[in-house]
Amino acid sequence: MTKHVHSHEGEPETVTCPMCGKVFTCGLSKLCWCATMPLSDKLRAWLAERYETCVCMTCLVRLIEEEKKE
Ligand SMILES: [Zn+2]
Ligand SMILES: [Zn+2]
Repeated sequence: MTKHVHSHEGEPETVTCPMCGKVFTCGLSKLCWCATMPLSDKLRAWLAERYETCVCMTCLVRLIEEEKKE
């Protein structure tokens, strides 16, 4: 899978959630809202391995909740 090159790094972009198809904005960087979410390193690595972009807030919250249950 090819990585996108972002000319406006740090600026929020409209992306489609790879998990549910919902459109949301993502900073695609350390400045992104998702960087402030309480993701475990394991979950972060799992997402990075599968998706080029972040997933939406709904999916992210669900993944965090699911991981807590394990
Ligand atoms: Zn989603
Ligand atoms: Zn993001």
